[in-house]
Amino acid sequence: MKALINVDYTYDFVAEDGALTAGEPAQDIEEEIVKITKEMHDEGDYIVFAIDDHKAGDEFHPETKLFPAHNIHKTEGQDLYGRLLDYYKEIENDDNVHYYYKTRYSAFAGTDLDLRLRERDIKEVHLVGVCTDICILHTAVDAYNLGYDIVIHEKAVASFNQAGHDFALEHFKNSLGARIV
Ligand code: ZN
Repeated sequence: MKALINVDYTYDFVAEDGALTAGEPAQDIEEEIVKITKEMHDEGDYIVFAIDDHKAGDEFHPETKLFPAHNIHKTEGQDLYGRLLDYYKEIENDDNVHYYYKTRYSAFAGTDLDLRLRERDIKEVHLVGVCTDICILHTAVDAYNLGYDIVIHEKAVASFNQAGHDFALEHFKNSLGARIV
């Protein structure tokens, strides 16, 4: 079994009026993300939605100094974006679907994701979502350090920063040994 880690494809990060939006590049990958999620779900792979989670006005969170407020717990901004939300609603009760909150860039930081993958004997993680050079990058680095094989779906990751996006893709391949597909 493989795992798909679907990172932060939420309203605030994707929609035109999202609080911390990557804008068009993020909107352009909607179809591809849904397609990959469906395919891997239908193959019986483990489908993970790792969702950034913040408390409004959290003075102790490092991102408060760095970014405008975003993905505030249980607001619309934290909902999955567009057709991915529709598809998630179809599969949310399936045994191989896991939706959870993270509070740092990496889907592994302070979460039980590694334990869940190990329980299922999963060695290969596929990454899709936003942003290529922030949350996807940090998740990939942690996956590398934990010994996972990494697959990055090039047409299903995006960033507001093209230079950062390009750097991250090179880094996945050349430094983390990821397969770019
Ligand atoms: Zn955040």
